[in-house]
Amino acid sequence: GAKQRGKNTYQLYMRQMSMSLQRRVEMEAHLRQAIENREFTLRYQPRVCLATNQCTGVEALLRWQSPALGLVMPSDFIPLAEETGVIVPLGAWVLREACRQSAEWLAAGGGQIRVAVNLSAGQFASPDLLDHILEALDEAHLPGDFLELELTESMVMRQPEQAARWLSSLKQTGVRLSIDDFGTGYSSLAYLTRFPIDLVKIDRSFIRDIPDSRGDAQITSAVIALGHSLGLKVIAEGAETQAQVDFLCNEGCDEVQGYFFSRPIPASEVGSFVSRRQDAVTAEKRRPATLR
Ligand code: C2E
Ligand code: MG
Ligand code: MG
Ligand code: MG
Repeated sequence: GAKQRGKNTYQLYMRQMSMSLQRRVEMEAHLRQAIENREFTLRYQPRVCLATNQCTGVEALLRWQSPALGLVMPSDFIPLAEETGVIVPLGAWVLREACRQSAEWLAAGGGQIRVAVNLSAGQFASPDLLDHILEALDEAHLPGDFLELELTESMVMRQPEQAARWLSSLKQTGVRLSIDDFGTGYSSLAYLTRFPIDLVKIDRSFIRDIPDSRGDAQITSAVIALGHSLGLKVIAEGAETQAQVDFLCNEGCDEVQGYFFSRPIPASEVGSFVSRRQDAVTAEKRRPATLR
């Protein structure tokens, strides 16, 4: 009966909860050691410009390869890293590693590949952030405009006055600033004009059901138009199908980042992704116009 079903559900719930609690305790102990043990790596997901079909940059995405826990994804350890403060040294490592890698691509002559790094709330609240950024750029001899920092709406809106000051000092280092997961957070748009933002990234949840969902399609078109009228570049996250890319292209979206073009890949595969796209464009230009 219903009572028995309720009891089973409850037991299942308790089992899952204690498992996740145990895993959490285990994870926290490992997490503190993981930076020193060099268990973190970065994957890079390419971004493609819809007007030129070229790869304009990549987003650095953190992966934790733990000998004890296996491969752990950021959604499973970033919240814990935030709560424990590990995010500050971990975030500093991400900045240094991403800048080092970007400088390496630059030196290899593979074109200008900008690298975007996610910041988390704990990092954004840390007084050391500016130093960490300057150190990372300096150590890699990387010009600031090769680095982009991804923030979220809620991060900047928690303390808007402080964020405004903070963002203008970050901006002086030459970095570009973007708003990640746009549309899912704080519901004020005023900050887009008040803060020195360069780009918005439309959240994957709006792209997923395009073109079937009329509502999502309308929101996406409106965000593209809004971004452009404010002089911002607009990037769509999470496009997986040709139909989604066609829609975004028609609406004048600037860039797309999604599985349709590439999953996050190791640094060693980025160079060939970039040149494959260059080749594709050259081949397209060589075809007679009537066949295009
Ligand atoms: P995000 O910054 O919004 O990054 C995009 C996420 O969407 C990535 O997941 C990426 O793999 C996934 N994605 C991209 N295109 C597609 C697609 O077409 N389909 C689907 N299903 N997924 C797609 P990932 O790597 O698991 O990262 C999740 C989140 O973890 C990131 O979301 C970001 O908020 C956070 N994160 C990752 N790396 C870092 C980091 O170094 N520092 C901080 N603070 N957060 C990070
Ligand atoms: Mg991001
Ligand atoms: Mg993010
Ligand atoms: Mg996002």
